[in-house]
Amino acid sequence: MELACLDLESVLVPEIWITVAEHTGIDELQLTTRDIPDYNQLMLRRLTLLDQYSLKFSDLQRAIRDLRPLEGACEFMYWLRERFQVIILSDTFYEFTLLLMRQLGWPTLFCNRLEVFEDRVVSYSLRHPNSKREAIRAFHCLNFRVIAAGDSYNDTEMLTEAEVGILFRPPQNVINEFPQFPIAMNFDDMRREFCKASLFL
Ligand SMILES: [Mg+2]
Repeated sequence: MELACLDLESVLVPEIWITVAEHTGIDELQLTTRDIPDYNQLMLRRLTLLDQYSLKFSDLQRAIRDLRPLEGACEFMYWLRERFQVIILSDTFYEFTLLLMRQLGWPTLFCNRLEVFEDRVVSYSLRHPNSKREAIRAFHCLNFRVIAAGDSYNDTEMLTEAEVGILFRPPQNVINEFPQFPIAMNFDDMRREFCKASLFL
């Protein structure tokens, strides 16, 4: 039995914090795990910025309410779910993803929670310090074979742990550091790579 595990941001949907940065004009919120691989360090920086600029949770919601999945993502998910059980493994927060998950047809999503008090983001709770990699390990314990795809640093441990890892539109520094992974530059490439990786297709 095979599972497909996908990263969310920059694979199926745009980067949520970059959208917030563009909407609010606060450039420093553009930093992602592509820039700061330590997720806790990155989140603490973001929370400090929210306080500094008095940004409320509802401001964040307003910034991302018009977000749409990337072009071709819905069709790709439909194709993938006909062929695999699909699980999205993401470092984002459930509080940000409701509207996007609706558009993607409510796939299974493992991610984190924000702690919001009186419309202020006070903290966040990470389910596990290495949730993507540990999810793949847990699926292995259940005798699943896993094909995983993601775009960035925070996906590389998941891609390494999976039987096959695929990079989707990665930045050049990730390509240079992880030449062992095949690269998909669009959803047609992704379909091809998943077919190649599968033992059953
Ligand atoms: Mg990503």
